[in-house]
Amino acid sequence: MEKLQNFIDGAYCAPKSGNYIDNYEPATGKVYSLIPNSDASDVETAVQAAERAYPIWSKMSAEDRSAVLIRLSEGIQARMDEFVAAESRDNGKPVSLAAHVDIPRAVSNFHFFATAIVHFASESHFMEGVGVNYTLRKPIGIVGCISPWNLPLYLFSWKIAPALAAGNCVIAKPSEITPYTAYLLGQVAKDAGLPDGVLNILHGEGKTVGDAIIKHQKIKAISFTGGTATGEYIARTAAPMFKKLSLELGGKNPNIIFADCDFDDMLNTTLRSSFANQGQICLCGSRIFIERPLYERFKEAFVAKVAKTVVSNPTDPKAILGAVVSKPHMEKVLSYVELAKQEGGTVLTGGEQVQLDAPYNEGYYIRPTVIEGLAYDCRTNQEEIFGPVVTITPFDTEEEVLLMANSTAYGLAATVWTSDLKRAHRVADELQSGIVWLNSWLVRDLRTPFGGMKASGVGREGGWEALRFFTEAKNVFVKY
Ligand code: NAD
Repeated sequence: MEKLQNFIDGAYCAPKSGNYIDNYEPATGKVYSLIPNSDASDVETAVQAAERAYPIWSKMSAEDRSAVLIRLSEGIQARMDEFVAAESRDNGKPVSLAAHVDIPRAVSNFHFFATAIVHFASESHFMEGVGVNYTLRKPIGIVGCISPWNLPLYLFSWKIAPALAAGNCVIAKPSEITPYTAYLLGQVAKDAGLPDGVLNILHGEGKTVGDAIIKHQKIKAISFTGGTATGEYIARTAAPMFKKLSLELGGKNPNIIFADCDFDDMLNTTLRSSFANQGQICLCGSRIFIERPLYERFKEAFVAKVAKTVVSNPTDPKAILGAVVSKPHMEKVLSYVELAKQEGGTVLTGGEQVQLDAPYNEGYYIRPTVIEGLAYDCRTNQEEIFGPVVTITPFDTEEEVLLMANSTAYGLAATVWTSDLKRAHRVADELQSGIVWLNSWLVRDLRTPFGGMKASGVGREGGWEALRFFTEAKNVFVKY
């Protein structure tokens, strides 16, 4: 059985403890590789390597760092097929999705921040007749990057790329549920000429190696994407140590559909925004609100389309949905369908596991599910399910739908469908959400602020926001 390794100080190595955990293939439900279960001693080795590398990397010119990161981006591109196959196998997502979204985005993330850093400038503030302030933005030092399983390399690189571009050394931990593409990344970084110790990739559980990263005194900032409960724990642990924190957490996103929308565009996009990546994108809209005059037409057309959506093994080119990421996650998602029934909901389509033929008969497949008849404030409509399950709810007025949309603890993303320009902007303004898409979904410009409000997080990623997070501002005043 293949054993993955940590990547520390420019070399692959086994965890000091010799402990490994199983890595499951969601499509078959079988263990297919072993992951190092690293601990504080591995983190310590990585931090020492990063300390040695920091003076070299942080003092390198932005142009030189940029050149390394562009080569890194090209290195992933050159091994595209290998990365795509690995991501799909590790996560359960259709190969087509990994090929069109996940790995191309990882390539773009490195390329984007490699070019951004050579344009990154800081401010100056002139005081009439008194003097001038200028602000220096220097790298922080050693930073920790911790990412989840749903978009493995996509989100891993979304943190690492700006951290490295800004001149920091990185201790990074991918999810233990989807470690494989992060494991491959070490070699690509080495081949790109990244100096040893600048990027260290450690594998293992959150409660062991993740915990050791957030508690290490010399790791000065933590960029975390994952669940809200984990984010709360990280904030509670790391904030008293005065670490800089960026927390990208859970969501329960509303999709608001007014009767005057472009119906076909809305319907096709809503299918994607509900079920792309088996509904396991933090930006998926899981609560669909439909203006009452359109409700029956929407329900009939949407349910018909969802019922025809192909759930198959990830290598099947016809698969729109593949496997969800793990058995516990499948059980969690299905338990929410049961909860929805107890809360008075009616399952219009889906609601059960899909049984595929061997060798996929023990894989984790769920039929895309649409539920109606639930109160907006019941648990099913308030808690994050993070799977292929959506609810549909009619509304009568703008005021009512805003109340329902804003009723959860979360505030990550929202989608609004309408042809009324004034209403679109008015509703966007009133939504408690870090990201709003009008008549669209998941159109991403990497320069824009990315993140959520309320229990969806603290801080923003993307563009200058990320480069500002990964640098420390120092103001210098010069008297005339
Ligand atoms: P999770 O919180 O369980 O794990 C995320 C990462 O944190 C993993 O690498 C895990 O090992 C690590 N971790 C767990 N406990 C830790 C600890 N005590 N100390 C340090 N690290 C620890 O989340 P998940 O199940 O992997 O991901 C799903 C969640 O991520 C969902 O809630 C989803 O909404 C959220 N998410 C948010 C965004 C966003 O941009 N806001 C994007 C993707 C996913």
